[in-house]
Amino acid sequence: MQEQPRSIGLIDCNNFYVSCERVFRPDLLTRPVIILSNNDGCAVSRSNEAKAIGVKMGVPVFKIRDLVKDHGIEVFSSNYVLYADMSNRVMSILSEYSPIQEIYSIDESFLDLTGFSDIRERARAMYERVVRDTGIPVCVGIGPSKTLAKLSNFVAKRHPKSNGVFNINLLSPGQVNSVLTNIPTEEVWGVGRKLTASLSEFGIDTVLQLRDADIASMRKKFGVVMEKTIRELRGEACIELEEMASAKKQIINSRSFGKSVGTIEDVQDALAHFVSNAAKKLRDQHSIAGMMQVFIQTDRFRTERPQYCPSVTIPLVMPTANSMTLQKWALAGLESIFRPGYLYKKAGVILSEICDASTYQGDLFASVPEDTEIMKVLDKMNARYGKGTIKLSQDGSRQSWKMRQEKKSPEYTTNWDEIPVCV
Ligand SMILES: [Mg+2]
Repeated sequence: MQEQPRSIGLIDCNNFYVSCERVFRPDLLTRPVIILSNNDGCAVSRSNEAKAIGVKMGVPVFKIRDLVKDHGIEVFSSNYVLYADMSNRVMSILSEYSPIQEIYSIDESFLDLTGFSDIRERARAMYERVVRDTGIPVCVGIGPSKTLAKLSNFVAKRHPKSNGVFNINLLSPGQVNSVLTNIPTEEVWGVGRKLTASLSEFGIDTVLQLRDADIASMRKKFGVVMEKTIRELRGEACIELEEMASAKKQIINSRSFGKSVGTIEDVQDALAHFVSNAAKKLRDQHSIAGMMQVFIQTDRFRTERPQYCPSVTIPLVMPTANSMTLQKWALAGLESIFRPGYLYKKAGVILSEICDASTYQGDLFASVPEDTEIMKVLDKMNARYGKGTIKLSQDGSRQSWKMRQEKKSPEYTTNWDEIPVCV
């Protein structure tokens, strides 16, 4: 009996951040819109209208001032709280269409559709349902491997005839060839700009050429990952779906400040906030950390200013996920490296030596058990009433270091004070 080909779906939200803003600003549906990165630096999400005008991905906003003005481009700061919440809604709807889901990024999800007899209808149904229930438009690509599912999605996005859904499994071999010969190698999953250039030196410019390249010599030249890519392009599923995000071995929380700060109080405040975020992530994955690194940095682009970028590593006697303990040590670490007279632009914390909280062997000689209950209460309250409802006293209460977000939209879906109002 011939084995049925795998049917892996890749569902990708269209211009995700822009689409999130448009849900609550329908007046922007046909207007050019861009979303800026942290601190309002570069364009990281663009509406089709903005792409058509020539706004390139990642362009610094100061370079397109004229374009923004001349075309009346609507500009937003990133509103990650909104995007994360909208993402959760999309992902939870998609989870109803297959028991095997890998949430690949904030706006992309793989679904294993192998074995379903109604793949065509299922794909169409999720395409329609997500936009109906959330307002976020998506495209669905289906293929026998993750790499081909991604390429199918690329086709679904660009070809109006596909109507947002494309399944490469339904094509004849000749049709597959003509699709793949029209896609440049840089669109292949895992093939970046650098690799595209090296492949081109080998005379490989299209996906078809890459698929039909000699595996042995390609592995020799580019390594085993390239072999997997080629096999995936041939329809062999080599990369499995990862249903559970594997627990991170290192958690970093750091950010550039909106403006440089010079006092230890401001840096303390920012650092305490980053430690809270990192500790929450640690608890979310049921882990504890045994090592913490704290670092601060001056602005390396301001070369006329004195530079100072120290860090300190703090081994924790008792591994923990307790925000209070971690903050205490982080602030002590900060005190040991902080020097006045510099303007600091960035700070951060790195938690490592991470292990599973449930299997950790406690310290025989520790008299006071770590108070994890209070952290549970804190997380629960914040989940229920909104992030930051309860926090440690020294956690982001000063505003001086906050990110620059001059054009941020309201947190429509997560903050009672900012829910949309009908008038
Ligand atoms: Mg997307």
